[in-house]
Amino acid sequence: MKITGIKTLVCDAYRTNFIFVRIDTDEGIHGVGEATMSFGENAAVGCIKDLEPAFLGQDPTAIDRLWHDNYRDSYWRGGPVLMSALAGLEMACWDIKGKALNQPLWQLLGGKFRDRVPCYANAWFVPAKTPAEFAAKAKEAAQAGWKALKWDPFGTAYRDVSNLEYRTAIECVAAVREAVGPSIDLMIEGHGRFDLQSAMRIGQALAEYKVLWFEEPLFPENFEALAELRRRIPVPIAAGERIYTRYDARRFLELGCAHFMQPDISRVGIREMTYMSAWAETHSVAFCPHNPAGPITNAATLQVAAAVPNFFLMETMATDVPWRKDITTEELRMQDGAMLVPDKPGLGIDICEDAIAAHPQKYYHLRHYRGDLTSIRPANAAAWFKS
Ligand SMILES: [Mg+2]
Repeated sequence: MKITGIKTLVCDAYRTNFIFVRIDTDEGIHGVGEATMSFGENAAVGCIKDLEPAFLGQDPTAIDRLWHDNYRDSYWRGGPVLMSALAGLEMACWDIKGKALNQPLWQLLGGKFRDRVPCYANAWFVPAKTPAEFAAKAKEAAQAGWKALKWDPFGTAYRDVSNLEYRTAIECVAAVREAVGPSIDLMIEGHGRFDLQSAMRIGQALAEYKVLWFEEPLFPENFEALAELRRRIPVPIAAGERIYTRYDARRFLELGCAHFMQPDISRVGIREMTYMSAWAETHSVAFCPHNPAGPITNAATLQVAAAVPNFFLMETMATDVPWRKDITTEELRMQDGAMLVPDKPGLGIDICEDAIAAHPQKYYHLRHYRGDLTSIRPANAAAWFKS
C-alpha cells in the first residue's frame, strides 16, 4: 500500500479550530487524524505540508518507521508544531492500518483492558462566573451523570495571586464541593499560571475540599519546581499536557513531577502515548490523557485508554459546538460517566468534508488568563454523545 495524497482541513470550533488530516492510499483506503492546537493552526498546517513529500509514496502501515524517520529528518526536533503535525499524520496511518486489517485500533495495540472508559467533565460550567453560578452548574452536571468535574477558578490571576483572587477561587471550590457532596471528584486546573509560593498557598487550601488533583499549578517548563511542589503540598498534582516527546516524559517521570500524567494524543501521537503510559506505570503514576480537542482526537484517545493497563480517567468536554455532529461520523455513548469503546475498524470515525467547509477557520485569542475562560462554548452548545 502506498500513500497517494494528504489533505488538511481546518474547522472553526468556537474556542479554537480543529485541524483534521486525511491520508489517501492507492488501495482506496483512507485514514483520518487530528492535529488541533489552541494556537498556531497555520504553523501546524504548514508543517504537515512540509512533511507531505516525505510521506507520499510511502507504505502507511510502516507507522513507527515513518514517524521515526520524519522526526529525525526534521532536524529541529520536538516542540508543539512539529509534534502535532506528526501526531495527526501518524493517527491517520493507524486508522488506515486498522481499516486494512478490519480491526479497531485497540485490537492492534494488544487488546482491551476495559469496555468502558471512565471520564471526567470539562466545560460543564459554561457560562458561570460567580461561585454560586458554578455551584448550580456543578449540581446539574452531577445530576447528568458526571462523576468528576474539572475547572479553573483562578480568573485573571497570573504568576502570583492577590488576596481577592485567592479568596474568590477558594470560595468557588467550597461552593462546588458543598453543591455536589463528597462523592463527586473535583479537579482544580491552574493552566500553568503560578509561581511556587502562590501554588503552595493554593495547594494547602485545596486539601480541605478533598480535591482529586491540582493541575498544572506552575509554568509547564519548570519540571524541577513541580517536583518540589509535589513534595510540599498535601494534594496530588496532575500535569503533562505540554509534554511533546518521550525525552520530556522521561525527565518528567524521573524527577517525580506529578501523581497523574496527562499527555495529549494530538501532541505526541498514538505510539508515544502507549510508551508514556507504560513509563508512567513504572513510576506508579496514573495515566489521565488530556483530551479537550475534537472528535478524531477523542476517538484516538478512547482507543488508547481502552488498551493500556494504568489508564485512570479521560478528560471529556461535556458539550461542544452544535455543528460537531455534522463534521464527522462520530457516534459515541456515555454510561454512568464512562464512554463505551467502539468496535469499528481503525479509529471508527470519518470526517465530513462539506460540513467542515461550512465552518472556516477563525482567529481566537487564548482565553485562559483573561478571565473569560468560562465563555468557551456558545449559548447553543450541546452534548455531542448519546447517554
Ligand atoms: Mg490542563
